[in-house]
Amino acid sequence: GSAAPQFFMEKPDLKFEDVGGMNKVKQEISMKIIQPLKNPELYKAFGKKTGGGILLYGPPGCGKTYLAKATAGEIDAKFINIGLHDILDMWMGNSEKNLHEVFMQARENAPCVLFFDEVDAIGASRSDMKGSSMRHVINQFLAEMDGVENSNEGVLILAATNAPWSVDSAFRRPGRFDRVVFVAPPDVEGRAQILTQHLKHKPAETIDIAGIAKITEGYSGADLKAVVDIATEYKLEESLAKGRIEKITTKDLQKAVKQHKATTSEW
Ligand code: ATP
Repeated sequence: GSAAPQFFMEKPDLKFEDVGGMNKVKQEISMKIIQPLKNPELYKAFGKKTGGGILLYGPPGCGKTYLAKATAGEIDAKFINIGLHDILDMWMGNSEKNLHEVFMQARENAPCVLFFDEVDAIGASRSDMKGSSMRHVINQFLAEMDGVENSNEGVLILAATNAPWSVDSAFRRPGRFDRVVFVAPPDVEGRAQILTQHLKHKPAETIDIAGIAKITEGYSGADLKAVVDIATEYKLEESLAKGRIEKITTKDLQKAVKQHKATTSEW
């Protein structure tokens, strides 16, 4: 056996207001996992069971990780981000041990948002793992999530996937990932908010945000961030050459949009 793995944990400053668009998704997360933590008696009074998690799905770069982090920031909780591929181990028993460790670390640090990325990797057939050992991993995950041996109080579980149809159906039972929420590419309003967010602390002229939002149909949050980064790059170079701050303009952003195309078009 190897030493217990340590998982990277942080305490994010990010808040819901930093995440552009996604109002419906934020509402779901609030009702299902934030409010039960803040108002347990109220949920009890209405006979609402708490616990379980939310499965986010949608195209890459639309802010699933970002939103999970902001969920932690909203409630002053810690945040652990786990790529399932980092946990799965071809050696018998190691994946289960890793899973147990990460849940224990979250419990010891509650309140804590435990975010599982690429959750479809669990249950997917792998050339280096026998089908039967994957079954064991699934069962371990379910037992940890159900809190069979250790209470999950104060542990908020979010997961993300680009392939929800590949997620083992046992995960979707009540008390587990019983909410499955689509994180869509941002609409025009969401895009305007995301652009505003990423330009917030940069030297910029008054920008025609609505205009840029209009010409970026199909752009993900990550794409919009890339557009702002490219425009920033132009102005940084120019400022260096001139020895003074040259502000980002609408034209810079238009040029950056031409340079960086949308990546979500296949959705
Ligand atoms: P993947 O499926 O590839 O993991 P994801 O949906 O988790 O993608 P993120 O990693 O959360 O996407 O997003 C990448 C980056 O794009 C974020 O760090 C953030 O800077 C920016 N971004 C994405 N969506 C938003 C948003 N709604 N508001 C502000 N920034 C966003």
